Amino acid sequence: AKKPVRVTVTGAAGQIGYAMLYRIASGAMLGPDQPVILQMLELPLEKPQQALKGCMMELEDCAFPLLADMVGTGDPKVAFKDADYALLVGARPRGPGMERKDLLSANAQIFTEQGKAMNEVASRDIRVIVVGNPANTNCYIAMKSAPDLPKANFTSMMRLDHNRAVYHLAAKVGKTVNDVEKMVVWGNHSPTMYPDIRFATIAGQPASKLVDEAWYRNEYIPMIGKRGATVIEARGLSSAASAANAAITHMRDWALGTNGKWVTMGLPSDGSYGIPEDILYGVPVTCTPGKYERVKGLEIDAFSREKMDATLKELLEEQAAVKDLVG
Ligand code: NDP
Repeated sequence: AKKPVRVTVTGAAGQIGYAMLYRIASGAMLGPDQPVILQMLELPLEKPQQALKGCMMELEDCAFPLLADMVGTGDPKVAFKDADYALLVGARPRGPGMERKDLLSANAQIFTEQGKAMNEVASRDIRVIVVGNPANTNCYIAMKSAPDLPKANFTSMMRLDHNRAVYHLAAKVGKTVNDVEKMVVWGNHSPTMYPDIRFATIAGQPASKLVDEAWYRNEYIPMIGKRGATVIEARGLSSAASAANAAITHMRDWALGTNGKWVTMGLPSDGSYGIPEDILYGVPVTCTPGKYERVKGLEIDAFSREKMDATLKELLEEQAAVKDLVG
């Protein structure tokens, strides 16, 4: 039998955490033969710790064969101890009357502390995905706070945008998600992200030939950008199940590979596509077990450049707002 791996989940008792823990413990993330130890972090306050205890009771009662052990804690140094994978979900939610800058700086503190803790106690090969918003910038902060860990191991979640883009493209032409290849979503996980279908195929046919350009630009792009808000409107709660699913599939593909299929990950830029180094930016990748590789050399036309620069501008502004808080 394989040796168990340690998986840290922060904000574990929140909506997304609750939609995530049981799937990780069931093997949906790392495969049906990989035992896991769940290390769950919640705020060190009575209510979240109590809620976390409840989640752990349910984990016990699921009797998951792959759940080798679990830890619930309010201390990042306990939560990240020897962790092989980390899903950073917990973040400060936007409160009423809260300025963007306040949100950024509250989160900068959380992700600085967590980056430092990982730097100190996690596996030297820990693989990280940041889900908590603003995810790209929070990931940048965690990465900068963990100078002893490989930068390439810090990623942010663009997969929900990617999955939404794939589904709605397939649905438009009456096909299924299995028919769609080579989708790309560039940039920030925010309404500025740019779903680029120029390389996409649907059942082998170029997507751009199957859908109308005006529909793509005027309806599809805004619809993908606003999908989160549309779900909130319908459900009265944010899109937790699809966010949890996106994080799990991001980690699964990174750990187990994609067999040549393109997926989108937020990665610290290597300078390609005109994106300044270290900015966390959604790019297309393929994965082999344990390793992602950027899809390089794609042609960027004028429309795409404009869209990619707009989402980059937003990321640069976020980064400037937290500059003084990052060491
Ligand atoms: P959720 O579980 O719904 O969301 C958690 C984070 O994920 C938020 O930042 C949210 O952003 C983000 N997110 C990213 N993509 C999506 C998406 N598609 N849909 C919805 N959210 C998305 O929040 P809860 O408030 O239910 O739970 C958060 C938990 O984190 C709480 O239990 C809290 O106690 C905990 N927490 C833990 C910390 C820690 O471990 N140190 C620090 C701070 C909080 P957005 O706000 O934009 O919706």
